[in-house]
Amino acid sequence: MKRAILLRFVVILLLALAVSGAFSYYFIGRNMLAHDKSAMLNTIRAVDYALDYGRDLQEQVEKLHAAAMDENSRITVIASDGTVAADSEIDRPDVMENHLEREEVQEAFAKGTGSDTRSSESVGESMLYVAARSAGGDYVVRMAVPYTNLIDYMLTIFPVLLLGTGIAFAVSVILAVRFSDTITTPLNEICEEMEKVRGDQPDFSFKKYRYQELNVISETTMKMAAEIRAHMDQLEKEKKIRQEFFSNASHELKTPITSVRGYAELLDQGFVQDEATKKDFYARIRKEMDNMTNLINDILMISRLEAKEAEVTFSNVRIGPLLTEVFESMEPIAADAQVMLHKECSPVAIEASAKQMRELVMNLVSNGIKYNHPGGNVWVEAWQEKGSLYIRVKDDGCGIGRQEQGRIFERFYRVDKGRSKKIGGTGLGLSIVKHIVEYYSGSIQLESEPGKGSCFTVELPLRKRIPAE
Ligand code: ADP
Repeated sequence: MKRAILLRFVVILLLALAVSGAFSYYFIGRNMLAHDKSAMLNTIRAVDYALDYGRDLQEQVEKLHAAAMDENSRITVIASDGTVAADSEIDRPDVMENHLEREEVQEAFAKGTGSDTRSSESVGESMLYVAARSAGGDYVVRMAVPYTNLIDYMLTIFPVLLLGTGIAFAVSVILAVRFSDTITTPLNEICEEMEKVRGDQPDFSFKKYRYQELNVISETTMKMAAEIRAHMDQLEKEKKIRQEFFSNASHELKTPITSVRGYAELLDQGFVQDEATKKDFYARIRKEMDNMTNLINDILMISRLEAKEAEVTFSNVRIGPLLTEVFESMEPIAADAQVMLHKECSPVAIEASAKQMRELVMNLVSNGIKYNHPGGNVWVEAWQEKGSLYIRVKDDGCGIGRQEQGRIFERFYRVDKGRSKKIGGTGLGLSIVKHIVEYYSGSIQLESEPGKGSCFTVELPLRKRIPAE
């Protein structure tokens, strides 16, 4: 990566240097040309000043040229009719062609000064001409120096520019190496740390870096690793719970299946002759089948609740009619157990699944009946308070010991296993109740005293239509 950054940097640097070099090259060259022109103009003015136009101009020009100028430069004096009055390079200016058409001469007569670059007809090489009108105004004094083009000027500054560019390039590359180091070194360190992910439980340790963005990478990685770890732990826990649930469920099913098989075999082998005993066996088989059906229904209910099934149909469930319906279906069992059912309900409704609400109330009421004694009571109350629906199921039955109170909501937990089984309990009823309550982001409270009775209070928030995750 470091090489890639450097390579790109060098390419950008070269481009920048080439563009800026070309610009400065061009402008410096142009400035030098302008500077030369102005220097030549100064010389012309000095020559003009020194010349006595009433005397022999050719002689004066030759003397001046010999005394003050190098041999590359040439001075010409042109009269207003275009005839050459004097020339430093040619002995007989009178034979020279008329110069009036020359660009610089015309310009000088018209504007005072003029210049041109072209190939000289008399000398034959490319020249730069600069001309100025004499102080008297009758002549134009012209100076010429060899000049090919702007590139000539530029060539003179090329070594300086090359040196400057070279120094700038070298310094920039050194700085670029250092700069890329400040990025690539932390990134390499972070990568090395992240390689640890291949291990089971990565334990990252990152340094603090100068650039905040790099710290964000390391902090986010640590956060993500912690989240993944927590998620994995949760999955592990859920896996264990599921395994336990399956082994408990199959264990629960085994007992009724064994009894059913036992009764069926006895009946099949013809050992039971007595009609009354046969009837009793059939009744027992039916009872075990009912137990199994209850168990399977409860297991299905719990797994649906755990999967947070999407197909829950919500409706406006009125609690009053719901309690009436539950009481009607519980009446025979309550009568059997000689337990009285009482209800008190204010007109309250909740946006929920009617099936789940029925299941919730049914489980609590049926427990109130099951864990009671003849002559006992179950009271159900429902009311609305501070945006919540409250359902309270109270009984004066056997009650639950303090130690068991925390565990009765666990799956398959029964205080008195024998009794629960005998009366058709699955050990899943309260677990289902708890799941339903959690589905609606509600809460459940239990107050109970052994021998006196139990009181379950369910609170369900009324506003939340969609259950919280
Ligand atoms: P079960 O199908 O056995 O009734 P639950 O999950 O409904 O299973 O209840 C778990 C255990 O909690 C029951 O076996 C019982 O021992 C105890 N329990 C539940 N409700 C009551 C109650 N109202 N009074 C006394 N004990 C109760």
